Amino acid sequence: MTLSAPSAGQWAAAVAAVRALGTGDEIQLICHVNPDGDALGSMLGFGLGLRRLGFDRVRATFPGEFRVPDPYAALPGSELLVAEGEAYQNADLVIVFDVASESRLGGLAGLLSAAPASLVLDHHASNTGFGGVQLVDPRAAATSVVAERLLAELGVELDQEIAECLYVALATDTGSFKFDLTTVAVHELAARLIATGLRPGEISRRVFDSRPFGAMKLAGEVMGRAVLEPGAAGGRGMVWTYATLDDLQRYSQPPYVLDALIDPVRSVAEADVSVVVKQVAAGEWSVSLRSKGAVDVSGVAVSQGGGGHRLAAGFTGYGEPDQVVDAVRRLLDEYLN
Ligand code: 5GP
Ligand code: MN
Repeated sequence: MTLSAPSAGQWAAAVAAVRALGTGDEIQLICHVNPDGDALGSMLGFGLGLRRLGFDRVRATFPGEFRVPDPYAALPGSELLVAEGEAYQNADLVIVFDVASESRLGGLAGLLSAAPASLVLDHHASNTGFGGVQLVDPRAAATSVVAERLLAELGVELDQEIAECLYVALATDTGSFKFDLTTVAVHELAARLIATGLRPGEISRRVFDSRPFGAMKLAGEVMGRAVLEPGAAGGRGMVWTYATLDDLQRYSQPPYVLDALIDPVRSVAEADVSVVVKQVAAGEWSVSLRSKGAVDVSGVAVSQGGGGHRLAAGFTGYGEPDQVVDAVRRLLDEYLN
């Protein structure tokens, strides 16, 4: 099924759901497990917008360990963040950000299903259509594009704090305005955000260009074990590598540093498909897939219970790294035949 952009009726329903609340009502914001820049940025930017509308009780959370990756630790609105155990259990409205399927909500899925009203803001083509009012635009470069539109519909004026959150979300999900969905509208949104006074250079240094020394050494080791398979993916080539919890421990690094490793791997010219297999527990791996265009990697991810976009997707794999990669190789062959 191909998703289309939200209809006028869906935007109106989302606005009505917010307007139906009193300023003392509880609003719980949730983004996906292992949150990235778009998940946190769109959630906190929208949360700040709700505060500007006078809502006093707004909390933001994500499932799993309550640890915000360092690049996003200084985002405005971080004071709204609570550990998942401190989320409003009986929120009047639940709003979900950047989540393609309920499995990405972990233990928080119950809060959503129990809520009297809910909104889902997302941009994944693989979105499964869960939740109440769905604002899912697969043409949007980031969930923050959807969040900014809803803020505008609600009459919230952008200020520098809201803008910084939305800008970080936009910059991370477009690969610093490099990827295919980087349209005129994306640059126009970036311009509106920058016009509030934020400093893109400073934000980029903090978000993209600042990693611990140990993370660089770890990256060197992980790159060193990369394998190029020119014959894979129907001759379009696949490059893959993996990183273990032991690697993280040896270099005293937190898990988020592994998420950037796909970027150098995906730049390999001889491969259309790139894969980084990142250990999350014994026998459990978070798999990042990228394509340069010949292959729709979201199909591979969805068939393994994950999701994502045509050119960037992921899933949870089990066993040893080479077993996970065997499965990817086989699925790519199936996909291409
Ligand atoms: P990344 O490789 O950067 O973690 O994720 C790439 C894209 O795939 C993102 O849009 C992300 O939301 C999606 N994705 C990654 N892992 C999973 C997963 O396990 N399940 C789902 N549904 N989507 C995923
Ligand atoms: Mn996103």
